[in-house]
Amino acid sequence: MEPTHRTLVLSQGFEPISIVSWQHAITLLFLGKVEVIEEYDRDIKTTSLVIKIPAVVRLLSAFRRHKKPVKFSRINIYGRDKYTCQYCGVKHSINDLTYDHVVPRSQGGTTTWTNIATCCETCNRRKGGRTPEQAGMKLLKKPVQPTATPVLVVAVSRESVPDAWRDYLYWTSELSQD
Ligand SMILES: [Zn+2]
Repeated sequence: MEPTHRTLVLSQGFEPISIVSWQHAITLLFLGKVEVIEEYDRDIKTTSLVIKIPAVVRLLSAFRRHKKPVKFSRINIYGRDKYTCQYCGVKHSINDLTYDHVVPRSQGGTTTWTNIATCCETCNRRKGGRTPEQAGMKLLKKPVQPTATPVLVVAVSRESVPDAWRDYLYWTSELSQD
């Protein structure tokens, strides 16, 4: 069997949640955990029966999404802020950026997603050890904890998607745009 025969797993709500080997999909099917939504045009023979390889299966019980949290790092902070200084609004290259404690550490500010903002060197010097209010500067937006990108979106974009999956994946990308 070609390795391309992998199975897309949908949640109860038809949301794609993972990609598994077809063997694993068959196991889930035999365990009664999934129902088959789409099949490949390929048979597999077991000792007692012949079935088609599942292309898309749907979980029969609720699935709790466990997203990987985005790692707290300098580069991910810049990414969240789109490489834009959160004070002057100018986009910079990584070398000209630094990160700013919105509430300075000297005033009890923490090194966390919600207190760190991307900042250019100039604004960083201007702000110094002051809060934006004290420095008379305004943040473009309040720093937030980024929500994780679903693992599946990344995985799917890196491989050719079987035709049998397309309806389900497109449906999701439409949903994620609103
Ligand atoms: Zn700036």
